[in-house]
Amino acid sequence: MTSILHYNAIEDTIVEADPTTSSFPLIPLSRHEHNNENGSFKDGVQFAWDSTSLGTFKTCPRKYYYEIVMGYQHKVLPPALAFGIAIHLLFQTWHQLLAADVDKETALLNCVRLAGLLGEKLPAGDTARRKEQLIRACVWYLDQFWDDPAKTVILSTGKAAVEYSFTLPLFEQDGIEIFLCGHIDRFAKWGGRVLAADYKTSKYQLDQKFFGKFKPVTQFPIYVIAAHLIAAETQELASTDGILLDGIQVGVNFNRYNRHVIPFSPEEINEYIEGLHYWIGRGMDCCKTGTFPMNEESCGNYGGCDFREICNKPPARREAYLKSGWIQRTWDPLQSR
Ligand code: SF4
Repeated sequence: MTSILHYNAIEDTIVEADPTTSSFPLIPLSRHEHNNENGSFKDGVQFAWDSTSLGTFKTCPRKYYYEIVMGYQHKVLPPALAFGIAIHLLFQTWHQLLAADVDKETALLNCVRLAGLLGEKLPAGDTARRKEQLIRACVWYLDQFWDDPAKTVILSTGKAAVEYSFTLPLFEQDGIEIFLCGHIDRFAKWGGRVLAADYKTSKYQLDQKFFGKFKPVTQFPIYVIAAHLIAAETQELASTDGILLDGIQVGVNFNRYNRHVIPFSPEEINEYIEGLHYWIGRGMDCCKTGTFPMNEESCGNYGGCDFREICNKPPARREAYLKSGWIQRTWDPLQSR
């Protein structure tokens, strides 16, 4: 196993470590790209679903085939995705340091150092998402939420409930037990309730239009369902009825932040579970038959699907294009972070 560089967030040192076993205080400074067998599939059929795989299937079965079944990704991460991953690592580290009794001033300095290290690896192509902007986004956020009224839940292990990985039995579909999986950015106590918290970065204003994009949505009801199941199973976390969403606006010379709670009633969640039955069933059908139709109505959404350059080629030539310009990386929702 090749080791990769990690930042030791408590000792403020850089060390080499096995990418598959490292955990806090070791924060990986580059992505561990692996292409192992995907554990969320059995006999070619996905049985463990997360919001990424489900959302991709809903968008376009062919996209799901390329991205989730085959694991094709661009060789270089898109800047927005790379920046978002770095932001998540920084805030996860902040909460983990505080839970480890590191004082806030030291935690801030170590997060800034980590932001500098992660910023070195950010891909070019977006002037609002470079190293300087990453450091500033981190410092200004922690300044604004220095005395955050949303308190991170501390688990019985003494660790902060951040990047909380879950794999939970959901229901049976065609005789197969289906699991719901994912990673919740943070559980926080806020106004007498426990909420699943999430961070989203954007170049646009953090107004009603921004927050309105997150309901209805595939990801957040999954977190609310998961929080109910985790609360029932462990009694360590209270059930949640909403998402605490921190929006982070990133510009070349500024950052802004805004926070909203996105509520989900039990009726809405029940309706969503009906949808899960339907969509997971269709996804499994596609896996069983090996048929992943194109949804041409999605090709132009959100700036255009990355696979347009593949789907616009004759079928016989697509594989060669994929092999030359893309890498394969397993998207396995069963992998903890
Ligand atoms: S380009 Fe269109 S058809 Fe092809 S994967 Fe993307 S959304 Fe689907």
